[in-house]
Amino acid sequence: MEVIGFGLAGACVALQLQRAGIQVRVVDDGRVGSSHVAGGLVNLVAGRNFEPSWEVKEAWDVALPFYEELGDRLFQSVPILRLWRDEKDRRKFERKREQLGSWIQKVDDEGVTWRGGGWLDCSRFLEIAREECLKSGGEWAAVPRGGKQVWCAGAAGLIRGDFDDVAHRSAKGEILTVKIPGWGEKRILNRNGWVIPIGVDLYRVGATYDWDHLTSGPTEEGREKVESLLRTFTDRDFEVTGHVAGIRPIINRSKPVVRFQEGRGWMVNGLGSKGVIYAPRVGLEMAEILQE
Ligand SMILES: Cc1cc2nc3c(=O)[nH]c(=O)nc-3n(C[C@H](O)[C@H](O)[C@H](O)COP(=O)(O)OP(=O)(O)OC[C@H]3O[C@@H](n4cnc5c(N)ncnc54)[C@H](O)[C@@H]3O)c2cc1C
Repeated sequence: MEVIGFGLAGACVALQLQRAGIQVRVVDDGRVGSSHVAGGLVNLVAGRNFEPSWEVKEAWDVALPFYEELGDRLFQSVPILRLWRDEKDRRKFERKREQLGSWIQKVDDEGVTWRGGGWLDCSRFLEIAREECLKSGGEWAAVPRGGKQVWCAGAAGLIRGDFDDVAHRSAKGEILTVKIPGWGEKRILNRNGWVIPIGVDLYRVGATYDWDHLTSGPTEEGREKVESLLRTFTDRDFEVTGHVAGIRPIINRSKPVVRFQEGRGWMVNGLGSKGVIYAPRVGLEMAEILQE
């Protein structure tokens, strides 16, 4: 089976196919897809309304052991402090509190702290997944050779219109890496955006959403937006050490899509803003379909 694209989707599809005994050949054009820039955040109760995302528990039950098996500390479990926006926000939470019980670690005047979240080092995951795939007999090819194919081309494929009738609402996002000496914040902070502690004095901050300009590359405007966002979390001085941008592949109300088109092959796409949570399960789904 030829897997086209080796981001989170392609990597998980390739490894899950191999585990199901299917031979894999990977074709990736080497461009920096959104998986190379993603914050890697796993937030099981993201969003304004304290609504768990679509089948998030089922997906994470597959994903967590998948990442743990691939590498120690590839996924780092970190408490997520969702700060209150205002009193209304807090009241909204109180109305949902009972149904969110299993994810709540603590509630106080700052906000609610979720358990079970954290972040995945996506770049390292892609490296390890590639090694693993090669070790299990996978091949790498520069151009597609044809035959049975699974297209995991992310937003690039959606924008090109690789498959018929796929309405997408992909969104560009920008992220900064910043150095904040002495801040010492160890939790992931979340409110309108997020800050992830990734090393000594180092934090990843994001992310912007732009549905209208699906161009590649970071922008000055994006940088300013993320810097303003960071100022809502801390008034400490910071130094920007990195700035990246990518396009989230969004279709079907942010639900991942696995579908077949005659003459084209399979498509696995639409991981949206939650590629880390959804990719291993969608890869498994693809493998199960192909085994039948
Ligand atoms: C700024 C930003 C922040 C994000 N933060 C998070 C986060 O914190 N947590 C989270 O879970 N998700 C996050 N995401 C979303 C996540 O990045 C995506 O859900 C996921 O990476 C999509 O993976 P993919 O494999 O579908 O696409 P991609 O990562 O884009 O991979 C597709 C690959 O296919 C290749 N390709 C395309 N066409 C061809 C072709 N014709 N031939 C060969 N190769 C081809 C591309 O070059 C690319 O390498 C973020 C996204 C962005 C943009």
